[in-house]
Amino acid sequence: MPATILVGTQWGDEGKGKATDLLADHMDHVVRYQGGNNAGHTVRAGGQTLKLHLVPSGILYPHITPVIADGVVIDPKVLLEEMDELAARGIDTGRLLVSANAHLVMPYHLEMDRVTERYLGKAQLGTTKRGIGPAYADKAARIGLRVQDLTDEKIFRQKLEVVLKEKNAILAKVYNRLPLDAEEIAGDYLGYGLRLAPHIADTSAILHQALRSGRRVLLEGAQGTLLDLDHGTYPFVTSSNPVAGGALVGTGLGPKEVDRVIGVTKAYVTRVGSGPFPTEDEGEAGTLMQERGQEFGTTTGRRRRCGWFDAVLLRYAARVNGLTELFLTKLDVLSGLPRVKVCVAYRYGGQVFEDLPPHQSIIHRAEPVYEDLEGWGEELTEARARDELPPAARKYVERLGDLAGVPVATVSVGPSREQTVAG
Ligand code: GDP
Repeated sequence: MPATILVGTQWGDEGKGKATDLLADHMDHVVRYQGGNNAGHTVRAGGQTLKLHLVPSGILYPHITPVIADGVVIDPKVLLEEMDELAARGIDTGRLLVSANAHLVMPYHLEMDRVTERYLGKAQLGTTKRGIGPAYADKAARIGLRVQDLTDEKIFRQKLEVVLKEKNAILAKVYNRLPLDAEEIAGDYLGYGLRLAPHIADTSAILHQALRSGRRVLLEGAQGTLLDLDHGTYPFVTSSNPVAGGALVGTGLGPKEVDRVIGVTKAYVTRVGSGPFPTEDEGEAGTLMQERGQEFGTTTGRRRRCGWFDAVLLRYAARVNGLTELFLTKLDVLSGLPRVKVCVAYRYGGQVFEDLPPHQSIIHRAEPVYEDLEGWGEELTEARARDELPPAARKYVERLGDLAGVPVATVSVGPSREQTVAG
């Protein structure tokens, strides 16, 4: 049974949580493969809204084994708090599996994230300051501590001592901060290790076996394509690989295991933090999207920048992820706009770019080329079939699919499960 990958096609916050929720009925494993608690899914459980940062949303379904795979970086304190919160709401977290190879976010990563952003001043990246970037940097520098180290006190202390010597020197001498105490960190982390021990597993082997025995596996990306470390709008990106290829690296599965790649795309575009955003609208339309779409960050509460749909970005996402279908979200938010604009290309220096320009300076300065489509006044939240959508909304959906060269398989018209238009 092949696996399915679900990725965001924009700068994150596309509504991946809802897409995962709908797919969950047909899945046995739901797997996070990159990022850390800088991501956030909003899910509804037992009539309550729940914000999950690390635990895959599959946790809400008793038939699903949620997995945090190798490519994720884990702040064990945050993970345990999230598990406690779920348990307090009567949700069993016993099935959660955590890869022994996943890297740990350590207290000095949090400290580094704070001080380095301050140091960058105006050039700051707008990180979530959860220590994610520094943890990935240490992973690449091969001085990271991993989940499996939590289960071996001697090794954990040895590794920590070596790393902390350097980190404390940097914190004190470069950033004028107080050094961190190895004993305190070891005490806390080894305690977390004891609690996490029953969940630690060889998740790559487990997923491989699951696929062999016909189980259905969903690999869910956090953030989005344009935030990918290699393929996003660098340096305003995250420190891992949300794109479909990252799902393979981050889980230890081979490319032949996957036959479906779903791109979750919002009917307009949002972006948190700094960086280029060619279709940003700071006028009335942007305000309508922000307010009707409730565009505030799940993790940081920051107001998201909003703008028109950008088919240049979607075409790019279709290519770098090898998308096989689209899941279009939040179409209902656009009701009430007399005209809706779709960016079909960028213009810069007398040239027209239908694909993402190869140099970031061009993306920064590019002017969007818009197609102007008719809007619709009707609310869409009650629509359950394509022919229940007003003709203008239907045309909009069709146009987006055509521009991307990928079929729109599902349209979401509200946060709840039922508010979905299939086919
Ligand atoms: P994610 O990280 O990609 O899951 O994105 P968010 O956590 O920002 O989720 C998007 C928000 O939009 C959540 O509060 C969802 O409940 C909500 N949402 C998802 N799909 C729709 C939709 O089709 N219409 C509306 N109005 N809200 C939606």
